[in-house]
Order: sequence, then structure tokens, then C-alpha cells
Amino acid sequence: MERLVILGGGESGVGTAILGKQKGYEVFVSDRGMLKKKYKDVLEHYGIDWEEGQHTEARVLNADLVMKSPGIPDKAPLVKALRERSIPVISEIEFAARYTDATIIGITGSNGKTTTTMLTYHILKEGGLHVGMAGNIGDSFARMVAEKDYACYVLEISSFQLDGIRDFRPHIGLITNITEDHLDRYDYDFSKYIASKFRIAENQQATDFLIYDADDPVITQWLEQHPIQSRGLPFSIERELEAGAWIGENEIRIKTKQKMITMSNEALALEGKHNLKNTMAAATVAKLVGIRKETIRACIQNFQGAPHRLEKVLKIHHVQYINDSKATNVNATYYALDSMNTPTVWIVGGQDKGNDYKVLMPLVREKVKAIICLGMDNTKIKEAFGNVVDLMVETFAMSEAVKVAYKIAERGDTVLLSPACASFDLFENYEDRGNQFKEAIKNL
Ligand code: ADP
Repeated sequence: MERLVILGGGESGVGTAILGKQKGYEVFVSDRGMLKKKYKDVLEHYGIDWEEGQHTEARVLNADLVMKSPGIPDKAPLVKALRERSIPVISEIEFAARYTDATIIGITGSNGKTTTTMLTYHILKEGGLHVGMAGNIGDSFARMVAEKDYACYVLEISSFQLDGIRDFRPHIGLITNITEDHLDRYDYDFSKYIASKFRIAENQQATDFLIYDADDPVITQWLEQHPIQSRGLPFSIERELEAGAWIGENEIRIKTKQKMITMSNEALALEGKHNLKNTMAAATVAKLVGIRKETIRACIQNFQGAPHRLEKVLKIHHVQYINDSKATNVNATYYALDSMNTPTVWIVGGQDKGNDYKVLMPLVREKVKAIICLGMDNTKIKEAFGNVVDLMVETFAMSEAVKVAYKIAERGDTVLLSPACASFDLFENYEDRGNQFKEAIKNL
């Protein structure tokens, strides 16, 4: 019996364990931290061996195959030791994809993965496909392959998952955009991070597709220097294309084969330029897998967006409150501010990731009437915008920030939480931050 060792007992680890067991491996799960109770229960249920609080080297280094959770860096000594022994270390998507013939749609990028994945899934499901959605959302891909038998999967894929592939080959790959993020895991070398994202296309063949943002110079320059085997289908909101998706006379135009389909770009469910791009990308996928254009049209108008992403919370005294807590980097916040069409009271701050706020300057000048800092250390924000807005207030708790925003905002304004920073200084995670925001608004 081959021995499969799984490093990390979270969603992807436990999913892989279930699938591995089903496929006849002797499975061992090892986590240096503590396992959640629900995962322990699942492992017990399936009779899978596990340990927590440590990695016992002797029980790991005797593996034939190792699945490493995306959170564990390649630099970890144990991973190095495995590599030195030439024991293959792969990611969950690599493992799971070996056991399914389903059509795989793999969505990656720096921002917009979850939104685009959810919208794509929505359209495909409404279009009648037997489709599953996995990745950072809900059950793991591996677990779905073990327990369900979908004809098609829409997968949200991080660069860490891509770092552990060998043969993984999505029929449709999609790169939403590439901006600097997670550089600590890539030796602070942006090109390594770009290369990692492009591995989505590494095993693709001429019959496969890669959908990408043609307005993103990082992507287009990389493609010029590193041609792909699959057929490229770009999308652009800036220029007309020969194939792919673009904008013309208030409509989205999509051409994947001879015939072009069009749909109004008004009344889209998701607002903002970035979401127009996400919508075009998802619609292109839908067209490729043969969803009727009437269904695509309806779905891009009735889609209920993902929480914490430009999520409209409430309107109080004609002031709209918007929760964009998932904006944990400057680029995401750029698009949030860009999509504001009223004077805005902006709640910003948190754990800094080496942010450079320069790119936000023109938008802040144009749209922001007041800034509410919400972070343990707001120095950088004060320095960047202190002279740019008329009013700046420092707060250290969400309830306080929301109360101040309520006082400042006037009829017709928007209160936007779009922090451009990680949440870990004052909150558990971005969901906690967004939920506290919504709670505070309801308590006003
Ligand atoms: P991801 O899963 O890649 O983190 P999300 O869909 O969760 O992406 O969105 C993360 C943040 O980025 C949100 O604040 C969202 O408004 C913003 N965003 C969404 N799509 C894009 C895009 N195409 N370009 C830039 N920012 C985006």
C-alpha cells in the first residue's frame, strides 16, 4: 500500500485524506497546530490516522507521496527534508484532479477570484450544468471528488495551490489580474509570483482556453515573453478585441467562435469597473461551456454578490453603508473607491502590508470627504492623506468608527469600509471585521 502523508489538517488536508483513503492509500495527517473538532471527527469517522501539535519526522519522511496544505511554505524544514529525499510534494488540486474526468475551470489572480468563481458557478448552475464549486469557498475540491460526482468544477485557485501542481490541467484557465501580493512567499521577487499564477496554463493544450485581463500590463507583457499552448481569450474594458470579451455601445460583446453574443452592460448585479471585468470573464467561461445567452444575461443581473466584497449593507437616512472588508490590499481598495459615485466617508486601516497609497491619491481627492482611520497604528495613513481630506478621525474599534461615520455622513453620501490592510491587528480576520461593521450599523 502506498503511503500518503498530508501536512496540514484543514479543509484541503482533510478532503485529501478522505479521497486518498478511498483510493487505497495508507493515509496519515500531520498538523503542527491543533485540528478543529469537526475535522477530527471526520478523520475518526473514516478511520484515518492523524497527529496534531507536531510533525513526527519518522512518520512523515516514510511517505510515498505528500500533500502539503497551501499555508505551509516551501521553506519549512520538513518540506526541504522531503524534497532532499525526492519524495513528491503536491497540492490538493493536483491530487484531486487525478481522480476526476470532469471539466475543470480554474480561476486565479490577485483580486477577484472569489467573486468571479461565485458568479461563474451561479451562471453554470442556472444553465443546468451539474457543477460543483470549490477552492477557498465551502468544501474542498478533493472532498467533492470523493463524495460527489460533478460533471464540471469551478475552482478558486491560489498561487500556493499552483506551486504544488505537476499535471493539473484545467480545460478553462482564468487569470483575473496580477498585482503584487504575498511577496514574502516568493523571495520578494514579483516575477516568481507571476510565474506561479501562470502555472494555471502550464499543462494546457491547444484545445484548452486561457481567459485573462488584456488591460493588465503585467499579464500581457508576461504572455509576450512566455507564449502559452492553449487558446488565449482576453477581456478588455479599454479596447475592441478580435476575440474574447470587450465593450461596445453600452454592451458587453463576447466572441469565442464565429458568432458574437452581446448583452447590456447596464443593470449588472455587481457594480464597479473591476466587477465589470469579473462579469465579462465569468460570462466568457459560460459561453465556452455552452450556456445560452439568455441565461447568462439574466444571471449577471440577478447574482447576489459575495459578502464583504462591496456588499451593500443598509441605507440609513439616505446614507448608503458598504462593506468591503475583503479589500486587504491597495489594489482592491482602488477599485472600491473608483466605483463610488457619491461623496464618500472612507473607513480605512489595519495591519499594513508595506502599502504604498500613492495610487489612491487622485480618487481620494475626488471622492473622499472624510477619512476614519481604524487600526492599531495609523501613522502611514495619516501621513499619506492628512493634507488631502478636510476631516480625518482616528478610531480603534469598529463600533466607534461606525458611530463617527454616522455623525459625519450627510444625505446622499456613502460610508465605505475598504481597509486596504489586513485585519489581524484588531480583528480575527476580514470576515470578523466585516461582520462587526454590519453589526455596528444595525445598532445605530
Ligand atoms: P480574491 O478571492 O481574489 O481575494 P475577491 O473576489 O474576494 O477576490 O475580492 C477581493 C477584493 O478585491 C474585494 O475588495 C473586491 O471588491 C476587490 N476586487 C474584486 N474583483 C477585483 C478585480 N477584478 N480587480 C481588483 N479588485 C477586485
